[in-house]
Amino acid sequence: MSSGTSVGSRNGGARASAPKNEERLVDPKLSAEAGEAPAEQSLRPPTLEEFIGQRRVVENLEVALEAAQRRGEMLEHLLLSGMPGLGKTTLAQLIATESDAHLVTTSGPALERPTDLAGVLMNLRPKTVLFIDEIHRLRASVEEYLYSAMEDFLIDVVLDQGPDARSLRVPIARFTLVAATTREGLLTMPLRARFGLRERLDPYPPEELERIVLRSATILGVRIEPDAARLLSERARGTPRVVNRFLRRVRDQAQVSDADVIDLAIVERTLERLGVDGFGLEELDRRILRTIVAHEPRAVGLKTIAVSVGEEDDTIEEVYEPFLIRSGYVLKTPQGRRVSDKGLAALGEKPRPRSKSGGHAPGLFGD
Ligand code: ADP
Repeated sequence: MSSGTSVGSRNGGARASAPKNEERLVDPKLSAEAGEAPAEQSLRPPTLEEFIGQRRVVENLEVALEAAQRRGEMLEHLLLSGMPGLGKTTLAQLIATESDAHLVTTSGPALERPTDLAGVLMNLRPKTVLFIDEIHRLRASVEEYLYSAMEDFLIDVVLDQGPDARSLRVPIARFTLVAATTREGLLTMPLRARFGLRERLDPYPPEELERIVLRSATILGVRIEPDAARLLSERARGTPRVVNRFLRRVRDQAQVSDADVIDLAIVERTLERLGVDGFGLEELDRRILRTIVAHEPRAVGLKTIAVSVGEEDDTIEEVYEPFLIRSGYVLKTPQGRRVSDKGLAALGEKPRPRSKSGGHAPGLFGD
């Protein structure tokens, strides 16, 4: 144990739902899902063993953790990428717990200047996992400041001001950086190269989401029938955060309906009320698709979509679009976004003849 504030160990440690060793430096306003955070924390698996799915990633991490522990070293820096809600934050917490380390949490947008990062790094205690969420949003000057810290555990501190200013290299505690990103492609090569471990989380198959929803139901103290759990899992776009959110809404519905058990009818009613269709698309997904269709035969840029649906560009690009593109509803072309035949089908429209540019050909009267 590194200190009284640490929890857990690889060989059967604490089973707390929230890591007691966590220090949050993130501005809660900057977190897109800030409102959901407390509910999510209670559903986070407290050990790697209880982390469902992503077997390849979990096995790689288990080997790396075990090897680092045997060498008496900290785990190498780890980059986790994948769509929102797939478990990156959860894994960062689990790595801290399993390494018996402190956890310090911050995010790219919260670190506005190099001095913000310097403040975090200088205060790191020995044996700390520093979790930086949304690392792709780090400014270039902050990112460059991180390099020597990651590589040599040294940072530059500027003493005095004006003509007397001089820079001093000071050592900091050795730490493991766990960084998460939904946009790995935006990371610079020098930053990527400094991560010894890189893992990508993929959307979960429905069977794994079903296990997650059954586990969450137990934690929330609700009973759910197997076919009801299956339907929730099939509509949750491969994402644990989404399936857990659905479960909480279904639980509300059961409560107001005085039902002891969540059955298929309750799930169907709730999904309909939430505007989730048979494809797992929600109202905003459909508005994105309709916006693109309305611009046919032209392809549509991100900004146009964002303005039309009243959301931030970043939110569209990082939260909604990955699923729409990955599942083949939207095609991203050099000219912009287009809706595929599958996307048209989701809107209840028929496939249309395509022009050479890949767009749907205009009709007789240039519609
Ligand atoms: P991310 O950081 O990738 O956006 P989180 O780690 O915050 O995602 O996970 C979102 C929610 O989904 C959390 O409540 C977490 O408990 C749950 N969750 C994610 N992955 C798993 C998993 N593999 N098993 C069980 N629950 C999971």
